Amino acid sequence: MEHEILIIGGGLVGAAAAVALKRQGRDVALLEIRPAETDLHRLETGWDARIFAISPANQALLQSLDVWPSESRIQPVSVMDVRGDNGGRIEFKAADIPAPRLIAIAENRWLLAALWRQIRALDIPVITQKAVGLETGIQTASVHLENGDTVQAKLIIGADGANSWVRAQAGIKVRENPYGQHGVVANFTTEKDHGGTAFQWFKNGEVLAYLPLPDRKISIVWSTSTPEKLTSLTPEDLAAAVTAAGEGVLGKLSSLSPAFAFDLVLRRPETTFAPRVLLIGDAAHTIHPLAGQGVNLGFGDVIELQKMARNTADIGAYQFLKRFAQNRLEPVRTMQYGCDALFRLFADETLPALPWLRNTGLDWVNATPFVKNRLIKHAMGL
Ligand SMILES: Cc1cc2nc3c(=O)[nH]c(=O)nc-3n(C[C@H](O)[C@H](O)[C@H](O)COP(=O)(O)OP(=O)(O)OC[C@H]3O[C@@H](n4cnc5c(N)ncnc54)[C@H](O)[C@@H]3O)c2cc1C
Repeated sequence: MEHEILIIGGGLVGAAAAVALKRQGRDVALLEIRPAETDLHRLETGWDARIFAISPANQALLQSLDVWPSESRIQPVSVMDVRGDNGGRIEFKAADIPAPRLIAIAENRWLLAALWRQIRALDIPVITQKAVGLETGIQTASVHLENGDTVQAKLIIGADGANSWVRAQAGIKVRENPYGQHGVVANFTTEKDHGGTAFQWFKNGEVLAYLPLPDRKISIVWSTSTPEKLTSLTPEDLAAAVTAAGEGVLGKLSSLSPAFAFDLVLRRPETTFAPRVLLIGDAAHTIHPLAGQGVNLGFGDVIELQKMARNTADIGAYQFLKRFAQNRLEPVRTMQYGCDALFRLFADETLPALPWLRNTGLDWVNATPFVKNRLIKHAMGL
């Protein structure tokens, strides 16, 4: 088999790249061992505990690919209320920029289903065989499949997630710094209306986020070094713990889904390309979820790829891959280091003045519109 581009991994980032490149007239194939559910009726019930805060720039990408979910499955966020561990507070408001919304909350499986419906509609060949070997060369790269077949391509894109097989096969080393924390996610109904506000608390090195969903529902991400203190609770006790940690801002919460825990690791591969191979999404970078920017960085990779591919005949050429990697390095590192610094600032218990400094810092930024608005626009990808 021969294709111009073979994308390995059909998660949100790989699937978006497949649709974007196919729409440019490229010959794209996708290798995914677990193709996503596309039947919307099966998805109607319940709400996914895996949700994403999507920036306006990435919402525009998804809309241009005709995969943005209907408004009934989207919650616009108009205010972000961030609280420190010693009274510090900062409020980001869409009205300050001004913009109709800061971000929009969307569910993983709805976005994925919409992308996969496009993959089917565009007749993108999907290979479900396991890949067992990768060979890179000057003109092409090849992937050997479990059934003995070989797929040759001018470019192989590794979008196969944080523990990327493509990255390992290409011999790319990765620096991994575990945060010693897990992100615990779960959904709840709320007693009070959230009014489109997202809340975040930095407390004793832990970070708790309430992300609004339509109709008095929220999804939480609680970054903690002791996830079992949450995942082992009964639904009632979990709701009580999350209500208390959130200072009762939305009244009493009731559990809607069990709690899941993900380990949190900062990953920086030494490079994001090799001859005829490119890494995107979590294969190329992972980040602490405190700013909800992981998949946003991955969609940023897709936007850059789409933009650069427009004027390029050979998308797997060394110069193309090098330029792509250079263009993405700064936005990715800025976001990785920014989130890392914020995490460490609030996790540090050793310096006595730090609680005062970080909370005063939040208050200072809150009172300084120029700095505050720059921060909002950066997080929104504007
Ligand atoms: C607790 C938590 C909360 C988060 N919240 C947010 C948020 O609010 N906003 C945000 O932007 N990001 C968030 N993120 C980050 C986000 O989940 C990831 O950045 C995003 O899902 C990465 O997408 P991806 O497509 O690169 O990788 P993945 O979603 O991991 O997809 C990889 C795909 O590759 C496939 N695959 C793997 N290996 C192979 C193989 N060998 N062959 C073929 N296929 C393969 C898998 O089946 C999968 O479909 C959060 C992360 C965590 C842990």
